[in-house]
Amino acid sequence: MVRRACFLVVMAGVVLASCVPHGHGERPTPSHRPAPSRPVYDEAARRQCLAQLTADGAHYSVLPDRTFGNGCSAIGTVQLSDIGMPVSNLGAMTCPLADAFTRWTRDATQKAAQAWLSSPVVKIESFGTYSCRPVNNVAGARLSEHGLSNAVDISGFVLSNGRRITVLNDWNGPDEYARNFLRAVHDAGCRRFSVVLGPDANALHRNHLHFDMGPGPYCK
Ligand SMILES: [Zn+2]
Repeated sequence: MVRRACFLVVMAGVVLASCVPHGHGERPTPSHRPAPSRPVYDEAARRQCLAQLTADGAHYSVLPDRTFGNGCSAIGTVQLSDIGMPVSNLGAMTCPLADAFTRWTRDATQKAAQAWLSSPVVKIESFGTYSCRPVNNVAGARLSEHGLSNAVDISGFVLSNGRRITVLNDWNGPDEYARNFLRAVHDAGCRRFSVVLGPDANALHRNHLHFDMGPGPYCK
C-alpha cells in the first residue's frame, strides 16, 4: 500500500507537470509565477525510486525532465542501460515503470523460461516506451500512458538456445509450453505493473504485452 501511495503522488505530479509550461528542468521562479499548489514532481519519491532501482541491480542514467505538445511529457524518467540482459527499443521510462520492468525481467521472465522452456531468456524485444498518442491510437481518446513515458510494449523473447518466442506467433500458437510461458510472464506482469494488456484484451494487442504504471489495476 505504501508503494502504491507513493506512486499516486508521483503520477499526480506527472499529470500536473504536463499541464503547466516549464523549461528543461527549470523551476518556476516564485517572483514571476504563482507557486504551484502541489509540487510539479515529488523529489522525495523520485530519490526513493532511483535508490530502489539501483538496489534492484539496474544501471541507468537520469534523463532531464521534458514536456512536449498535447500533454505529453518525460518527467522523472531514466534510460535503462543494463538490467542483466539486452532489451531492444527502450527509451525514456518513468522510474516506477523502469523499476517494475527491471524486477519483472530479472525474476518473472527467467523463472517462467526455466519452468516452461528449459532455456534462459537472453534478449527481450520491445516496441518501445515513449510515444505521444491517444489510447489505442483513437483520435479524441485520453492520452496513452506511452505519452507520459509510463508504458512499455513487449513483443518477443530470444532464448539462449536460439529460439525466438513472440506474442504474435506463440500466444495462440501450437506449442503449449510457449503459450504457458507467455501467460506466465503476462500474469507476473499483473503483479508488478498497474495495467497489463495482452492479446486477450483486444486485437490491437495481438502482437505485444502492454505494461504501464498508470491508474489501475487492470489485467487482461
Ligand atoms: Zn502499449
